[in-house]
Amino acid sequence: MTTTRFAPSPTGFLHVGNLRTALFNFLIARKAGGTFILRLDDTDPERSKEHFVDAIREDLEWLGLTWDRVERQSQRLDRYAAAADTLRGKDRLYEAFETPTELDLKRKKQLNMGKPPVYDRAALDLTDADRDRLRAERGGHWRFLLDRDRIEWQDSILGATSIDAASVSDPVLIRGDGQVLYTLASVVDDTEMCVTHVVRGADHVTNTATQIQIIEALGGTVPNFAHHSLLTGPQGEALSKRLGTLALRDLRDQGVEPMALLSLLARLGSADPVELRGSVDELIEGFDIARFGAAPTKFDVNDLFPLTARHLAAQPFAAVADDIRALGVPDAIAPAFWKAVHENIAARADMAEWWAVFRDGAPQPALDEGDRAFVAEALALLPPHPYGPETWGAWTAAVKEKTGRKGKALFMPLRLAVTGRARGPEMADVMPLLQQPPKPA
Ligand code: GLU
Repeated sequence: MTTTRFAPSPTGFLHVGNLRTALFNFLIARKAGGTFILRLDDTDPERSKEHFVDAIREDLEWLGLTWDRVERQSQRLDRYAAAADTLRGKDRLYEAFETPTELDLKRKKQLNMGKPPVYDRAALDLTDADRDRLRAERGGHWRFLLDRDRIEWQDSILGATSIDAASVSDPVLIRGDGQVLYTLASVVDDTEMCVTHVVRGADHVTNTATQIQIIEALGGTVPNFAHHSLLTGPQGEALSKRLGTLALRDLRDQGVEPMALLSLLARLGSADPVELRGSVDELIEGFDIARFGAAPTKFDVNDLFPLTARHLAAQPFAAVADDIRALGVPDAIAPAFWKAVHENIAARADMAEWWAVFRDGAPQPALDEGDRAFVAEALALLPPHPYGPETWGAWTAAVKEKTGRKGKALFMPLRLAVTGRARGPEMADVMPLLQQPPKPA
């Protein structure tokens, strides 16, 4: 049974980088008819905040990425303590006492001597008496004793991957203050929750190597790993600093539609082209993790807006009926309103502007001086309000006959006079929606 998890730390808002991880894990579980767990990595009591937990749920719900259950690491501390005991019993967890400054010094010395900055395991040589003394003086932390072998796995994105454990420091699993760190907590959860597939960012590759040994030491089954490349900006620049501005809720506020965002991220960095999908089910069908490459993936937020416009243009009235009603558009003309504007909005919120035009009239149109007299003459020929679908044709024919104008010179000033804009819906569709006659030019 396929089981995946998305495991954010509730220490900030989700951004596009997180979404890539969430989406891949979600799609794998759904495609296999398996289980998708939302796991909150909240073992850091200072940095984890409840309002971020709420925000994570809200953002995933907005996108339609539904989870089967929630797990919270803060409620599983007894499980991590038990796993630590197991590792101690197997002599794979040892207490070390170096302060951050001491570790820093060691690293600098090693680097000066041209050696890799790997923890030297000095703590293994301490006597019991040393340990008692140091524990009383400064408290100790706990490190996992790596087997210094080559750690290998078949990565679903990177392919055959290996890391020499001798080049990695024994990871700290429990801090001096007793806080269990991610490396252990994640392994215990993945093992006990029978997680079969773990997709996460390429920044976790070294973690994966050490976690494979911890899983094996605990007698668990190593899941399938896939490490997706990190997103960069359009020029290949690191996105990490800008991720704060690419929070999912900010994109939502900018009018980005969930299916536009999901469609882009489900294909970006894969061998397949981005295709706008109509539903999450279609995304699931079209997803294959093996199609993704290891190269950094360029993300341009501006790609989301044309996709959003295309998504909206393809929506049936029923999908937007609630928004249209909320604007105060009378039910009787709501479908006609949608027909008129659906290809002329970049975001849902733009409907409000069109409705304001139809309800209140155009804001003062930017007419060329030479068109003012023409528009005044034309408005005098307009049949009485309310208008029908035939009004535009009949009106423009009458204006043409009276003034001799035709083509753009005829239509553009009238469009500007009626809507205040040079572009927009078919005027034949606009006229019946006008709630009052156009104001005099
Ligand atoms: N909380 C970890 C992170 O957000 C989870 C990593 C993982 O998927 O194992 O980086």
